[in-house]
Amino acid sequence: SVQQQQGDQLPRYVRVNTLKTTVEDAVDYLKRDGFTYLGQASSLGDLSLAERHFVRDLHLTDVLVFSPKTDFHDHFLYKAGHIILQDKASCLPAVLLSPPSGSHVIDACAAPGNKTSHLAAIMQNKGKLFAFDLDAKRLSTMSTLLLRAGVTCQQISNQDFLTVDPDSPTYKDVEYILLDPSCSGSGMVCLRDDASSADKEKQEARLQSLASFQLRCLNHGLRFPRLRRLVYSTCSVHTQENEEVVAACLRQNPGFRLVPLLAQWPERGLEPLTQCLRASATKTRTHGFFVALLEKHSGAGSPNQ
Ligand code: SAM
Repeated sequence: SVQQQQGDQLPRYVRVNTLKTTVEDAVDYLKRDGFTYLGQASSLGDLSLAERHFVRDLHLTDVLVFSPKTDFHDHFLYKAGHIILQDKASCLPAVLLSPPSGSHVIDACAAPGNKTSHLAAIMQNKGKLFAFDLDAKRLSTMSTLLLRAGVTCQQISNQDFLTVDPDSPTYKDVEYILLDPSCSGSGMVCLRDDASSADKEKQEARLQSLASFQLRCLNHGLRFPRLRRLVYSTCSVHTQENEEVVAACLRQNPGFRLVPLLAQWPERGLEPLTQCLRASATKTRTHGFFVALLEKHSGAGSPNQ
């Protein structure tokens, strides 16, 4: 399919795990390993690379970019947790939330934990990172990933985020939430989207049920009393799971507003939510993705104010 071809042609992105190494050391190691480093990219065109050539990304400083299909699964840097194999777009939420070192943070739908480990790196392992997921099997994968990545500030619970009590003393200092809930996955360019018209109705019903779950999670996240910022993301291209969910949430929570994100990012949320970011194979050379950052109005004591 066309999507399959696009997927095969996307650059390979690698996030440097700053809990274990630095970008400079990772670059040096890769050069000694026979890769050719071309410096920092300055345009999206610079991300089209020949085999065994690599650059530092132009938007995200901890991300290195390689030619399509470069495989790091058996590489020392991956096995030692120095690099994380993560699409560039999925590195946006933690960077945009950017919780300070020492802060209390919730990762609401965390497994398998790529964004959790990214948050921990940004927090320099200091503070508290509460991670929830419903799926025990995915949580055990996550434990392995976090151990390899050297993450130590996490507290993992096999719990439905919607049942986590925002008024519990445990979460009284939580100021930041990352919400990356289950979605259709329609942005993953390796997944085929060849639904026949008979399946279209089914797909529409599925999207509606996902969107209502996503909105419930968002509304729940905004109930934590000291919350300052919440980042919402999906790997979906559907407006129903992205702009429409965020717009409904903002209508229901007038104490919150959208933060304008990365002026230099080439693809925006659909009108009027242009503060948000979208990502795609054609416009950002990544999988399809959506990110919104919600912030409490200063002076707004409660979301109902
Ligand atoms: N953030 C993860 C990462 O970057 O590695 C990926 C998260 S994945 C898109 C969504 C996750 O939400 C799944 O692991 C799923 O089990 C979990 N999930 C679904 N419903 C949930 C709920 N009500 N509470 C907590 N987790 C839930």
